[in-house]
Amino acid sequence: MILFDTHADTLYSLAMHPETPKDVTLDRLKAGGVTVQTLAMFVGGKNDEKHIARAFEKMQAEEEKLLAAGWKKLTDYRDAREGETAYILSVEGCDLLKNNLSLLETWRRRGVRMAALTWNYENCVGTPAKADAVTPLKPFGREAVKEMVRLGIAPDTSHLNERGFYDLLEMGVTPLASHSCCKALCGHCRNLTDDQLRAMFSAGGYVGVNFYPYFLDDGGVATIETICDHVIHMIDVGGEKQIGFGSDFDGIECKPRGMNGPQDFPRLLDALRGRGLTEEQLAGLCGRNLAAYYDRIDPRA
Ligand SMILES: [Zn+2]
Repeated sequence: MILFDTHADTLYSLAMHPETPKDVTLDRLKAGGVTVQTLAMFVGGKNDEKHIARAFEKMQAEEEKLLAAGWKKLTDYRDAREGETAYILSVEGCDLLKNNLSLLETWRRRGVRMAALTWNYENCVGTPAKADAVTPLKPFGREAVKEMVRLGIAPDTSHLNERGFYDLLEMGVTPLASHSCCKALCGHCRNLTDDQLRAMFSAGGYVGVNFYPYFLDDGGVATIETICDHVIHMIDVGGEKQIGFGSDFDGIECKPRGMNGPQDFPRLLDALRGRGLTEEQLAGLCGRNLAAYYDRIDPRA
């Protein structure tokens, strides 16, 4: 079975916190049966352009090291082959696009296939859920999104505020939320309301369920079963063919009990089987749903 994970902050952790043990390693991806791990180029917690530019340079250098160490790079999820282990690049935080929209082409040439418009602070593109729910997407943000669509880069709404999310849908864009959970089950501002989930699914979008305990449970007490709860809730609101997993490994300081890294994916799949999901549904969640999403936003000849 092909298995995609749409978010991990491993490159940022390697670049900025080399001493910290990593959740995501090639061996653990293989042990867990992950076919493609999405690795984010993340702007980091310091809202400072110089810092971000330097972090991106360092992450690029870390990517070169991964390639030298035998990691396989893909530039399209649909090229994934069962039994192989690879990664695809994403961007988390479009701050560097300020005055430089052509950077999107550079990212695309390097293989970036999804870009989160913001992280947790306002930038040239939009406003995060953490700031407020009502500030619209900026005019420059609309230009950036149109360019992403042209290039086949999925606009990623994880972290974006509610108004910005609906602005994208009104533009007729088909976004994805690479690492987001359900607000009906946990009230965190980062999570998606049922209305947002329904709107996302009817627009043809995609959501990867995040494994961060504080997005899964109001008290931050989560197990593999809590991840299943969010998966099943998304299925209940119509997402069966449009959801998957966006672990957030190497970007989260604690994990659900039993889900310590990519090596534990088989335990999650077994738990979902235990909750009544069929093999067909699991094959969708693990891989087919994301491949179908890219068929919608970037059809191949
Ligand atoms: Zn994130």
